[in-house]
Amino acid sequence: MTNISKWLHNFSHLLYPHICAGCGSDLLEQDQTICLHCYANLPETGFFALPGNPIEKIFYGRLEVASAAAGYYFSKNSVLQRLIHQLKYHGNLKAGQQLGQWLGLQLKNSGRFTEINALIPLPLFPDKERKRGYNQATVLCEGMADIINVPVLKDIVLRKRYTDTQTKKGRSERWVNVDGSFEISDPTQLQNKHVLLVDDVITTGATMEACGYSIKQIETVELSMATLAWSSRD
Ligand SMILES: [Zn+2]
Repeated sequence: MTNISKWLHNFSHLLYPHICAGCGSDLLEQDQTICLHCYANLPETGFFALPGNPIEKIFYGRLEVASAAAGYYFSKNSVLQRLIHQLKYHGNLKAGQQLGQWLGLQLKNSGRFTEINALIPLPLFPDKERKRGYNQATVLCEGMADIINVPVLKDIVLRKRYTDTQTKKGRSERWVNVDGSFEISDPTQLQNKHVLLVDDVITTGATMEACGYSIKQIETVELSMATLAWSSRD
């Protein structure tokens, strides 16, 4: 972690000491971020163990993805939305790490995704990450890595805004809608790996597809995808 994210991590301990980030009730254990009631009511999808699940179907005919899953159903005004909000906008990295651990447990217990040997957080635009002080997808990856013991590869996949020179003629239509483009800084780091691309919420999958497409330009790479939540509304 950078110094800033360490500072934010400590700061979030001060801000969210002993109350459930989901419902605000008192927590008995200092290490918890949500209470047992909220945890038990998180809407798990079961997709990690389910071949042909709706997340895999998003990429059918668009991109070769070995396996894909989202951990939870996303809905508005839910405990999960509050947790994601805490992670993204309130510097609550502890909540994010815990969410990542739960995602890692789902993956580990699924019996699939066993070939994964690197985690790649979907990159933010650099100016956005600078402002936030961290990438929430990296925090999720670090939580997952606690459970499945594979390295988190940061700064290998980079995200750029389109400029006139990057938006070349001849790109197919679908790329026009994607917010930014992706580049691989050091392809040798990904060669012969089965990487898991990770983000917080998937909706249309367009950004994951664009990023995955860049990764798949390296011929010896296998690609799988995981997100914390699935928002089925377009
Ligand atoms: Zn609660």
